[in-house]
Amino acid sequence: MNILFMGPPGAGKGTQAERIVEQFGVPHISTGDAFRLAIKEGTPIGLEAKGYIDQGLLVPDEVTNGIVRDRLASDDCKTGFLLDGFPRTLAQAEALDQMLADTGRKIDHVINLKVDRSFLLARLTGRRICRSCGSTYHVLFNPPKQEGTCDKCGGELYQRSDDTEEKVGTRLDEYTSKTAPLLEYYGNKGLLREVDGEKDIDAVTAEIGSLLRG
Ligand SMILES: [Zn+2]
Repeated sequence: MNILFMGPPGAGKGTQAERIVEQFGVPHISTGDAFRLAIKEGTPIGLEAKGYIDQGLLVPDEVTNGIVRDRLASDDCKTGFLLDGFPRTLAQAEALDQMLADTGRKIDHVINLKVDRSFLLARLTGRRICRSCGSTYHVLFNPPKQEGTCDKCGGELYQRSDDTEEKVGTRLDEYTSKTAPLLEYYGNKGLLREVDGEKDIDAVTAEIGSLLRG
């Protein structure tokens, strides 16, 4: 079974992906891991990617596509895979379809974790970190006993500048506008499965599992 996972930052995509690969016995392919592996093994495409990264340049689409193509050609992907973090653009989605078609394969399901913007904002802006020991808290899901103070060391808790409502809002807007064409693309192909990501973790896993089992 060839699965694609999509979802905004804070939707719990990583957690669900880990659970689903365990249930279905397929490898979890994240582009970050695929890059690290190709670079570590020193494959031709890995070396090419490293050249761009070392110079601080954006890795071009054809290199990213090549990394994914190599990874999906590995033996462990023969019976299926869960792809996470790719494609990010329509051009990449078309390249993915082509590379799978070249090996007689296709995407079977596209799982999209749907989570309301206000829910994501609450989740992503609630993080607090201790200045002294680095312990992390969440004002809603894992609050300290005393507001603003670390349980472990009594240090002062602060919010990272990346976690402010403004910054998080910008990240979410970027994600939404970038992925809208992809959702339409897979929707038109009849592959898109929307899952309510606001339920508790076990309920979301169960829903994804039953969708995949069809
Ligand atoms: Zn502390």
